[in-house]
Amino acid sequence: MTNQTTQYILALDLGTTGNRAIIFDREGKVAGQTYQELTQYYPQPGWLEHDPNQIWQDTLNCLQKVLANNQISASSVAAIGLTVQRETCLLWDKTTGRPLHKAIVWQDRRTAKLCNQLKEQGKASEIQERTGLVLDAYFSATKLAWLLDWVKQNYSDINWDNVLAGTVDTWILWNLTGRKVHATDHSNASRTMLMNLETLDWDEALLELFGIPRQIMPKIEPSIGSFGTTDPELIGAAIPITAIFGDQQAALFAHGCDRPGLLKCTYGTGCFLVAQAGEQITRSQNQLLATVAWTKQDGKVHYALEGAMFTTGACIQWLRDGLKIIDSAAETDTLSRQVNDTNGVYFVPALSGLGAPHWDMNARGAFLGITGGVKREHMVRAVLEAIAYQVKEVVDAINLDCDTPVSLLKVDGGVAQNDFLMQFQADVLGIPVERPAVVDATAQGAAFGAGLAIGFWDDYSSLVSSSAVDQIFKPGKNSADAQANFKIWQKAVERSKNWID
Ligand code: ADP
Repeated sequence: MTNQTTQYILALDLGTTGNRAIIFDREGKVAGQTYQELTQYYPQPGWLEHDPNQIWQDTLNCLQKVLANNQISASSVAAIGLTVQRETCLLWDKTTGRPLHKAIVWQDRRTAKLCNQLKEQGKASEIQERTGLVLDAYFSATKLAWLLDWVKQNYSDINWDNVLAGTVDTWILWNLTGRKVHATDHSNASRTMLMNLETLDWDEALLELFGIPRQIMPKIEPSIGSFGTTDPELIGAAIPITAIFGDQQAALFAHGCDRPGLLKCTYGTGCFLVAQAGEQITRSQNQLLATVAWTKQDGKVHYALEGAMFTTGACIQWLRDGLKIIDSAAETDTLSRQVNDTNGVYFVPALSGLGAPHWDMNARGAFLGITGGVKREHMVRAVLEAIAYQVKEVVDAINLDCDTPVSLLKVDGGVAQNDFLMQFQADVLGIPVERPAVVDATAQGAAFGAGLAIGFWDDYSSLVSSSAVDQIFKPGKNSADAQANFKIWQKAVERSKNWID
């Protein structure tokens, strides 16, 4: 049970584009937050790296600032919940605390060739059987194999007893605990392509296949549990860290999706539709991922089915920073409303290859159907429509895999703030789309998990049902057109496939 003087739960939400600290009060309301954008490094086409030192320094700064700015003492924080961008991984030296290379981000495609070789060797079905995942460069295993090779070549005298591996949660946990705890949770581990979905432990055959020594891997612990305490030197108190989730699983938890039939879609840098599968593994017949939703200290395991689409917000960022045809992400909404349709233009959002349900690492982005009358408004609208079409494909796959058809889509994430997109999403799906008032469900999920683990809160159902709904988008008069255009868009997707060698 928690001490009555502790008034808050703190969530650290370490995303792809930025790191955030949010404080929640006893009512589950936001009492303060800080955010810092994260630098993206693109050393080669298709590669993406993050600086692990920046992630740690920004996390610590956000943590210190959110307490100071809101005049909250560290000792009044009952627990910390951590939620992170998944699959992104790194190696570091435990004696110096220094990363051995930048972290390789989930979107990075540098190991596509290695994956294709493994496919040719017939390894895909065994990997899927063991991990629930489709063999793809997206997951950590081939990224860790690449990093190990790089370290072997560049640090020939390395003492392997000092090397630690981890996803972002593990790196931050290790630093937060004063370099004491080297652990991860089952939801993050299930995305490495190294955890066996049945035993919930590192899979010996896969560690061997990817050449990863077991001793460098973290211990896998229950997501809602106990991961140690913060080093008091850092923020002035030893705060227990009691929940770790992958970002998508945290959002699923926040939306109250704890029973089969409930699902949510998070529109961030990528777009992730996750459906609760209950306490049994549901294996997809339609190119979705079987993964861990979360685990608890009493041994309970919740599984999920997931459709991962790689580029969503990333396309919006590209319109702004790459093409420079918009000034802000929000402008995509206004521009799209200035035209009645896309004037025949279709966009394929394969900027990092295609994820579910196609899994084509060699696909690349495309605009098709351009004629002389096409204006930037049409191009921008085509990008938003494409985001909704991708989600429609994954909802169709979920409907094929599950007995109960999807009847409502709960959404969150930065891109879900776009009203035009949400209305178009409802139109193309033909079902309502529900957006909560707190769009940052990811941080909320981590906070709920951490608070429930230590008895700060005791009733999950009332916690999740207290979240207010902002808006429900119902299918409208444009539904028939949207659904007809979806079929044409699917043809564009076929054209973009297998584009590079
Ligand atoms: P992540 O957690 O992956 O870093 P977020 O959920 O924080 O992502 O969402 C950030 C993304 O949302 C950015 O790519 C940004 O361009 C996009 N975004 C923010 N507001 C809007 C909007 N109104 N319309 C479309 N995209 C938006």
